[in-house]
Amino acid sequence: METMFDTAIIGGGPAGLSAALVLGRARKNVLVLDEGRPRNRVTGEIHGFLTRDGTRPAEFRRIAREQIAAYPSVRFMDDAAVEVTGTNGRFRIATAGGATIESKKLLFATGKKDLPLDIEGLSDIYGKSAFVCPYCDGWELRDKPLVFIAKGAGAMHFAKTITGWTSSRTLCTNGPDELTEEQREELKRHDVAVFDSPIRRIESVDGLVRQVVLEDGSAVPCAGIFFAPKLAAGSDLPRALGCDVTETGSVVVDGFGKTSVPGVYSAGDAATELYQAIMAASMGMLAAAGINGELLEEAWNGKG
Ligand SMILES: Cc1cc2nc3c(=O)[nH]c(=O)nc-3n(C[C@H](O)[C@H](O)[C@H](O)COP(=O)(O)OP(=O)(O)OC[C@H]3O[C@@H](n4cnc5c(N)ncnc54)[C@H](O)[C@@H]3O)c2cc1C
Repeated sequence: METMFDTAIIGGGPAGLSAALVLGRARKNVLVLDEGRPRNRVTGEIHGFLTRDGTRPAEFRRIAREQIAAYPSVRFMDDAAVEVTGTNGRFRIATAGGATIESKKLLFATGKKDLPLDIEGLSDIYGKSAFVCPYCDGWELRDKPLVFIAKGAGAMHFAKTITGWTSSRTLCTNGPDELTEEQREELKRHDVAVFDSPIRRIESVDGLVRQVVLEDGSAVPCAGIFFAPKLAAGSDLPRALGCDVTETGSVVVDGFGKTSVPGVYSAGDAATELYQAIMAASMGMLAAAGINGELLEEAWNGKG
């Protein structure tokens, strides 16, 4: 590909697509490079995104791409970026498919990825009856008996939050609970049952959880599970290019998605720990405004 793009966007989820829409409308030449492995691909519907509540993730992307197609300066490539080199004004991206792309600015909208789930049976129900965020999927499980898998401070946070959706809550700590005596008392006062035996397996039928079976032989019947999976950066490319990245894998950015490397931006799950599609889209919009402002400034000063 010979074009020098104004911006290459790596990642075509809500963050990258939102940035592409804004940059397309700002008449910038943009390439969206996406390998198509969004974190929410396990789930059936996106919830809580105004005007898109209940939309399938793949349908969300289809509509976004269809609307962006109205702006001819945006191109899409279904491929993975495997190497990024260069500096502000001239970045070079090598793809798994053998293409080389050049761009003046870069936006990493590469999301986060789940590390392998380490409880037997959990991957069978992930996105169907086991979820990570009550704001996303609590409504569908309202008033049902729910298990949440957590320890320590995380368990206390989950216990309070899930109360908004159901009064039937069981905490499985999957080993030592890491709670203080005071916290155990607090959970008891609020009728939260606590099991600290390690989880042997989760039993389900067609993705719907039936019960959590513990190593001590007991079983906790439930209709849904919330848990906090371990996550990693969706891509190591921002770190390889020199961007500051937190211990938890988030690219460090300012309010407009600017990273510590000139000309490089990041948005969405890649650069936050507040995992919501509308938040990712909003960050993509802000990063696009930041990038466009930089490009206009450079052109104004004869450096573009
Ligand atoms: C089970 C589950 C349910 C959820 N439900 C909801 C919900 O109901 N409502 C809600 O608001 N949020 C929900 N979320 C969170 C939401 O999905 C994310 O916050 C949102 O998708 C983040 O958007 P993003 O664009 O930052 O990243 P993603 O949507 O993850 O997209 C990142 C894209 O970048 C691509 N990519 C990564 N590296 C490369 C590379 N090197 N080259 C090319 N492409 C690359 C990936 O393949 C992917 O397509 C849920 C999450 C999970 C896990």
